[in-house]
Amino acid sequence: MKMTIYKYNTIENMFNKKRTILYFGFFILFILWVITIKRRDAAQYQALKEILDQTQLKLKIKSSNYNALKVKFESICDKWNPTDPIIYAITPTYKRPVQKAELTRLSNTFRLINNFHWIIVEDAETKSTLVADLLLKSHLNYTHLSIATPVEWKRKLKEPKWKKPRGVKQRNLALEWLRERRNRKNYNGIVYFADDDNTYSVDLFNEIRLVKGVGVWPVGLVGGLLVEKPLIDINNKVIGWNSAWRPERPFPVDMAGFAINIKLLLSYPKVLFSWSVSRGYQESAILSQVITKEKLEPLADNCTKVYVWHTRTEEPILKAEEKLRNQGLRSDMNIEV
Ligand code: UDP
Ligand code: MN
Repeated sequence: MKMTIYKYNTIENMFNKKRTILYFGFFILFILWVITIKRRDAAQYQALKEILDQTQLKLKIKSSNYNALKVKFESICDKWNPTDPIIYAITPTYKRPVQKAELTRLSNTFRLINNFHWIIVEDAETKSTLVADLLLKSHLNYTHLSIATPVEWKRKLKEPKWKKPRGVKQRNLALEWLRERRNRKNYNGIVYFADDDNTYSVDLFNEIRLVKGVGVWPVGLVGGLLVEKPLIDINNKVIGWNSAWRPERPFPVDMAGFAINIKLLLSYPKVLFSWSVSRGYQESAILSQVITKEKLEPLADNCTKVYVWHTRTEEPILKAEEKLRNQGLRSDMNIEV
């Protein structure tokens, strides 16, 4: 009996030992499991934290960008009407003493116009800080581009202005920009070639916005006349122009005297300005590719109002400045003019 009890105890002990080892084993496994989970969690936490930090940084950058953009957009918000088409004004410009004055005058007018996008193209290899800064401060919606006129087409010193076409490469670059970026079907916009020295009334832009195909209107102080204007018949159709200079041109109109709807323009993917057309035929060359005279839309109260003038800024005489330069000095040493 004793023996049996002993045996029984021994068996029970063994059994308990095994169980203890098993429990201990389980306990160790549990500890290991907790440790690996903790480690994994720590690694995951670290990774998550890094992502969070990066996101926070990005958000900070975005929010500073956003604030800058907000200031800009708030200032032009009242100049935005979602139902109106956008007017794309294409302006070639080049470095000269009056450039900043011209562009300031223009930008001050354009600030009064809603749904307006200024495509300004410098006749230069690279964009200048003068133009870039002016645009930045302009509160305008703009695109700043640059392309230099090839030397053989650049006006030489003392060469008369009319000898060579101006703004060809620059206007074409803007057209290419529009073809690439504004090629959505049913995009609502109008393209106007706004040279940097003309004078524009804000009323002109209300007319431009009405253009469905090609709109035309009178231009003041051009072609040797006080006003060059389309002639209209009793059915309000354009039957010709009163032009005195080369009236035989298919469209004897100045660049400032028409605007083209973007849908029409982009439906002709190859239409561009060219060097090869005769003097004064740039407008005719481009218009005859997209429209016929009968389809022109006479605007500005049936062409009875002048809202744009082909003004030309006198070249300033800078004799004293030249003298300074000869002495290695200049009046604009630390001041942008
Ligand atoms: N232009 C240019 N590069 C030049 C000359 C002119 O980009 O070498 C620009 C000029 O700034 C203007 C447009 O082309 O916006 C037409 O030039 P301009 O006013 O001299 O011509 P005009 O009015 O005499 O036809
Ligand atoms: Mn001009």
